[in-house]
Amino acid sequence: MSTTADVSVGDLESTAAPDVVHRGGCHCGAVAFEVSAPAVIEVLECNCSVCVKTGYLHLIVDRAKFQLIRGADKLLEYRFNTNQAQHFFCRVCGIKSFYVPRSHPEGLSVHARCIEPGTVTQLILRPYDGRNWEAARAALP
Ligand SMILES: [Zn+2]
Repeated sequence: MSTTADVSVGDLESTAAPDVVHRGGCHCGAVAFEVSAPAVIEVLECNCSVCVKTGYLHLIVDRAKFQLIRGADKLLEYRFNTNQAQHFFCRVCGIKSFYVPRSHPEGLSVHARCIEPGTVTQLILRPYDGRNWEAARAALP
């Protein structure tokens, strides 16, 4: 027999989109990860100096939702400007498949283009005005 607490937890789970496991990584395969997120994901398309040159699409996740399967020893770190973001590149192929963003230093940003095909059913692009970073960050939830 259900308690009142069980019923309310069930109600919450039925309204939230369930997570699926997305697999991804760099180009050469040295770096591989799994990330739990809904099948329909909303990503930030940033126009700042570094993202615009790589076409980076940010899927922002809690660190608990991310697992590095392999390649920790293959990552090189690049920092610039305020030095807050930690940009991780595969030392073999040069692809940045995830990193620690300045906007969410407690979380991670996964490059949605580095997720393998098959698990993302819809990609919702949301513009992020990284050239005016402070104002853009203040406007995020
Ligand atoms: Zn690589």
